Parts: sequence; structure tokens; C-alpha cells
Amino acid sequence: DTIGRNLDRAVAAYPGREALVDVPTGRRWTYTEFGRAVDEVALGLAAKGVARGDRVGIWAVNCPEWVLVQYATARLGAVMVNINPAYRVHELEFVLRQAGIGVLIASTAYKASDYRAMTEQVRGGCPLLREVVYIGDPGWDELVAGGARMPAGHLAACEAANSCDDPVNIQYTSGTTGFPKGATLSHHNILNNGYFVGEMIGYTEDDRVCLPVPFYHCFGMVMGNLGATSHGACIVIPAPAFDPVATLHAVERERCTSLYGVPTMFIAELDLPDFATFDLSSLRTGIMAGSPCPVEVMKRVVAEMHMAEVSIAYGMTETSPVSTQTRREDDLERRTTTVGRVMPHLEVKVADPVTGATVPRGTAGELCTRGYSVMLGYWEEPERTAEAIDAARWMHTGDLAVMRPDGYLSIVGRIKDMIIRGGENVYPREIEEFLYTHPKIADVQVVGVPDERYGEEVLACVILRDPADPLTLEELGAFCRGQLAHYKIPRRLRLVDAFPMTVSGKIRKIELREDAIREMS
Ligand code: ATP
Ligand code: MG
Repeated sequence: DTIGRNLDRAVAAYPGREALVDVPTGRRWTYTEFGRAVDEVALGLAAKGVARGDRVGIWAVNCPEWVLVQYATARLGAVMVNINPAYRVHELEFVLRQAGIGVLIASTAYKASDYRAMTEQVRGGCPLLREVVYIGDPGWDELVAGGARMPAGHLAACEAANSCDDPVNIQYTSGTTGFPKGATLSHHNILNNGYFVGEMIGYTEDDRVCLPVPFYHCFGMVMGNLGATSHGACIVIPAPAFDPVATLHAVERERCTSLYGVPTMFIAELDLPDFATFDLSSLRTGIMAGSPCPVEVMKRVVAEMHMAEVSIAYGMTETSPVSTQTRREDDLERRTTTVGRVMPHLEVKVADPVTGATVPRGTAGELCTRGYSVMLGYWEEPERTAEAIDAARWMHTGDLAVMRPDGYLSIVGRIKDMIIRGGENVYPREIEEFLYTHPKIADVQVVGVPDERYGEEVLACVILRDPADPLTLEELGAFCRGQLAHYKIPRRLRLVDAFPMTVSGKIRKIELREDAIREMS
């Protein structure tokens, strides 16, 4: 169904339950209040001329208005375009122009980012952009008040015209491997995906979901917002941007039952010096996704954060996003070594990247997904769409996976990250998992760097637990010998303070590799 009609059902079923809580400002909405607020914003946008098919940009850190705009644009049949809050002038202008955005809703400022100044700078270069509304500014209140001019019945007429196959959202990929691509997604794509993610973890109206992940990304807006509201659960915003203290504080204060994050967020929370002082006993579940999770971290999340049912999900923006997920009944072994099994009503296969033939279970190949979740296409980029989705509608993910005999999948890495050393395929993930057990290593990333003799050589980028207690290449080699095949043992070591990250919390391996190569030359 459409996102609007699904929200109407939640409002009717759970009128007095909380739908949305913003911890930093203490504002809260029941489902009845939330439904009303969404309609006010929708009417306000309609009064500014937003109609079916129009693109409305949202460039903001996490806040309640972000969520209101998400549902309000869906109600109007408009297409919301999520703009990464880390974008700067050049990237902002690119998205505004590429997606043909007419109305932009933006934060005013957050920390060092002056969104207003940046927006004013690009306005002249974006002739289609006719209106900018800043959240928390008088302009926002005027937008909401302006809706009163619209005729009664306007929203009902919009909703009646909406179809679940209409585009509702353009989401840009994280840009981990290159320039982000705009995935065009329908109501059908993302509402179903959010709903089934919630089903897999058993959400009900008693659940309260803490979302420190950015809304601009599908993890926040689909698995979080749509996953919660399609089950009558409550969205809890701990902070405008990820902050480990604010996150645990929100869980404690709002008695959250579920917590989301990419592995690096969970690591930051677990490593807080006063971690043990937070009462996290309300948690039962959550989702960890987006990048591979070290086994040791997973064990601590289960044991120390009470998240016995924590779910692992795998997906990508282009598939709404989730393709595979663990189930509530899965044991720790499955949660630590796999990304679950295929979601209901979807298909996955593991194929030889060259021939396209399905490989036997137990063999690595490219993971492909087919079904309701596959995007309509990249926005106005038919060639790139045709490269990603084949004639039989399989989405080629670019990820290498192994399907086990029980149907559970393990992600081996990205095809682009695979290292070929002297003709041997080396999967960085496997080496990272092993190095992670070294007592001096807090975090590690393995990349391939050019080598005259072997084509590529294995390099480990290490963040030390204690910078005063360094690690040498010899020590690392001795640790690996007898444990890893000789060709997998890192021959180069780089000590770093941090890894370059995307806003969705992923490590940009290409940048890490480029930095290492630059340092070598
Ligand atoms: P870009 O496509 O712009 O390079 P991106 O692929 O990181 O960026 P997203 O769509 O946000 O953009 O992320 C999807 C990718 O994240 C997947 O293709 C996969 O490589 C990785 N990923 C997602 N979930 C998991 C997981 N549970 N384990 C390992 N990797 C994951
Ligand atoms: Mg991608």
C-alpha cells in the first residue's frame, strides 16, 4: 500500500501510543498527534505548490521535522530526496540540480556546518529551486500555518491518486566506493521492506526504537522509521548526529527496547569509560548492519547491552535496503558468522561474477537480489541502471557472498576490495577478523596496495589500543605465522588514528588505500 494509507491505519489502531520522541528537545507525539502534524506539513508543502511527482529535498541532521517531511511528501505523492548532511556546496549543488529539486527543507546550522550560508551560495546555480525552508526558523512555522489556505479534502484527493508503485524517494548510496548514485524507490519498495524488517524482529506497539543512525540513509528512514510506524512502535531520536553518550542516555531515559547502529557505533558505545553506569536493561533487540561486524563486538553487544535478539541485516540502498536478515530464534553462531537468510518474498542467488552461473553452496560469488525491493532505477541514469539490474530483474550487488547449506549467507567482502596477490584471491575481511584478536589492536582494516612482484600486497591499517604501546610489522608477522596462509599475512603495516568514514558510518577503504599509496611513494 502507500506510506500515507499505512500511517492512517497505525493512527487508527494506536491513537494514544507514542509515535515519535525527540530526546534533545523533549518534544513528543502520540500517533494521533503525529498523524495530524504530518498532515499539517503536507498541506503546508501543498500551499507552496508541491504536487504529485515533484522533488522535495531534505538536507538536515536528525530531528522530528525530518520524519514529518518524510511522511508528508509521501502523502502528497511527491518524491523526497535525501541529502547527506555532510555534503558541502559542490555536492549539494549537484544533487539539487540532478534531482530537479523545487523545494528544499534544510537545517539552519549544526556544529560547524552553516547550512543556510551554503544553500544561499548555490541558489543562483539551481534555477528549479524556488523555495528553501529552514527548520527551527520562522519560515518553518509559516510553512505549517500556510496549509490552512488549502481546501478541505485536498489530502484525501492526493491519497486517492497515489499508487504504491509511484516513486516516493530518491536515496543516494553511501559513496563508499565512488560517487553516490541516486536510487529511485517506490512506496511498495520501502514500505514493504521496513514492514518485514520489523516483522523479523517482532515489533509491536510496545517497542521503542532508538535511532542514532542518520535518517538521510535507508538504515534510519526505512529500517528505522518505516519499520517502527508500520508496527505502531515509537521512533526515539537520541541526538541530531551520532553521539555515543547521548545514545545510551536516550535508551536509559526512554526505556528503549531496540537500538540500531553500524558496528563502529556499537564499538564507540561499548568503549565509553562510563559504559557500565548506563541502565540498558530495557533493551531486547536492535539491528546491526551496514558493514561487517567483528565477532568480539557482537558477543559484547549480546552480553553487555542485553540485546540477546540483536538482528544482523545485509542490504544496499538499491534494494530498499534489506535482502537478508537473521531471525529471532537464531543462535549466536548464526548472528556472528552470517548476515541471516533471505527476507520473505525476495530471492537471492550467489553467481559467478564472470559467467553469471549460480555457484554451489559453500562457494564465493556475487550476491544478486530479485523481488519487490529492487529499486525502480538510478534517477535519470538509465545506463548505470542497466549495469546494475539485468534483463531478468536481478540486482547485482557487487558484494561477494557464500551461501551455507542451511541457506544462511556470509558476506566475504566487496568485489572491488578483493586483493589479488600473486594470483591468489585474498578477502580482507578474513584477515581483519583474525587481526582483531591481537591484544594491541583496537581496530583494523586490510587493503591491497600495488606491488611490483606480486601485483598487489596486503597492507594492514591499524588503530592501536594504546598509542604508547606500538606494534611492529615483525610482531604482526609473528602473530599471523602458522595461523594464516603465508600469502594472507600483511607485508605492510600502517598505524593510523582513525579511518576515513562516510556519514552512514562506513569505512572508505578506497581512501585508506589511496592514503597508503601516497605515503609509500
Ligand atoms: P556506494 O554504492 O556509493 O559505493 P555503499 O555501497 O556503501 O556506497 P550503501 O547502499 O549504503 O552504499 O551500502 C550497501 C553496501 O554495504 C553493501 O553493498 C555491502 O557492501 C555493505 N553492507 C551492508 N550490510 C552489510 C553487512 N551486514 N555486512 C557486510 N557488509 C554490508
Ligand atoms: Mg553500493
